[in-house]
Amino acid sequence: MKNQYDVLVIGGGPGGAMAARTAAEAGLSVCMIEKRPAIGTPVRCAEGIGEELLREFMEPDPKWISSKIDGARIVAPDGAILDLKPEMAGNEVGYILDRKVFDRELVWQAAKAGADIFVKARAVDAITENETVVGARIEYNGCTQDVRARIVIAADGVESKFSRWCGIDTTVPLRELETCAQYVLSDIDIDPHKTVFYLGCTIAPEGYIWVFPKGERTANVGIGISGRKSGEGHRARDYLDRFVAEHFPEGKVTELIVGGVPVCRPLASTVADGLMIIGDAARVSDPITGGGIYNAMLTGKIAADVAAECIARNDTSGTALAKYDTLWRETRMGKAIKRNHGIKEFFITLDDKKLNDLLSSIRNINLEEFSTLTLIRELIRKNPKLILELRELQKLVG
Ligand SMILES: Cc1cc2nc3c(=O)[nH]c(=O)nc-3n(C[C@H](O)[C@H](O)[C@H](O)COP(=O)(O)OP(=O)(O)OC[C@H]3O[C@@H](n4cnc5c(N)ncnc54)[C@H](O)[C@@H]3O)c2cc1C
Repeated sequence: MKNQYDVLVIGGGPGGAMAARTAAEAGLSVCMIEKRPAIGTPVRCAEGIGEELLREFMEPDPKWISSKIDGARIVAPDGAILDLKPEMAGNEVGYILDRKVFDRELVWQAAKAGADIFVKARAVDAITENETVVGARIEYNGCTQDVRARIVIAADGVESKFSRWCGIDTTVPLRELETCAQYVLSDIDIDPHKTVFYLGCTIAPEGYIWVFPKGERTANVGIGISGRKSGEGHRARDYLDRFVAEHFPEGKVTELIVGGVPVCRPLASTVADGLMIIGDAARVSDPITGGGIYNAMLTGKIAADVAAECIARNDTSGTALAKYDTLWRETRMGKAIKRNHGIKEFFITLDDKKLNDLLSSIRNINLEEFSTLTLIRELIRKNPKLILELRELQKLVG
């Protein structure tokens, strides 16, 4: 590991890898560090990504795809089913990745572009001078070393500490941190090409349960619930165990993971002097679905593009880097996050009866393209009596 780079990326998830690759392709000297000994494991993810979104960055490759998804099913608290058929399927369906392989592929692409990659290399502090971030203190190979960089990109995920060391408030309110548990369940009866979402305050308070197929008889079966609803005897895993006992009693658990997903607003600013923050570290996952793979990749790419421009102009001040903050907020993703935060805040107020009524009102919808947005629009159209309650939502979806 050298002592000086143009760009130092902290974290080797999809965000960090995309940032490292883009910066290296722009001709910058890049170092990416990952604290875990292996990229991509453990997989703290249900691994779903929309087809169009994925294709913005790369052509799908069977070697890192577990399943192709053609439709989605939403199950209301009373068990009623809303099937979203392939022709309605937009960005909410696409692929279930094999992230162990996918994340490695992304990092490999960064390495091929010329980035130096180090695993089992952990940032333990930020180095700042005159309130400017100039590098990181890194534990690697039993030694602690200082690595300086013109720009540090914090891609250290939901547990992100780097930005905090730089003096930025990254707190996620407990109620807006989804606590998640997920099993890889084998030997279960599923439709291998359909994702299923179970809603309800009783089964998943302020969250949902997902079944994401990873083959003919295997799926990621997981749950996210609001941190404020979690406690002794009613943690995410307790809810998940109850669900699995009822729906897949024959299932064999081959993996258990737990993790957190921020469903709050993004950080007020994702830049500072010498610093850019991307992906989960910037709190840019979708507040409704919790999806953050694409969001991390997109913010990683935009950050690296702007980093290259700023380094070429020899200006890495927060004011110059703010172009990144502006650009990602103007994307479709940035706008969706803003809107979906408001929609999420509305949906968590609904009890099971209201959820049943709303879902039953749109049971026979035939949306040309299914997306969270089109679904909400349809809900509003079909529920004029609820217009008062939905008024705020209507403002959000236009
Ligand atoms: C249970 C669960 C299910 C999910 N399902 C989906 C889904 O189906 N679809 C979807 O799009 N999203 C999903 N997500 C969210 C998705 O996993 C994240 O949004 C995505 O991984 C964010 O990418 P990232 O690069 O920002 O962070 P991460 O993928 O978390 O990568 C951050 C990396 O930084 C490393 N790191 C942290 N601190 C340091 C340090 N000090 N020094 C060096 N390295 C460090 C970490 O080890 C980690 O590898 C899910 C999340 C959870 C928890």
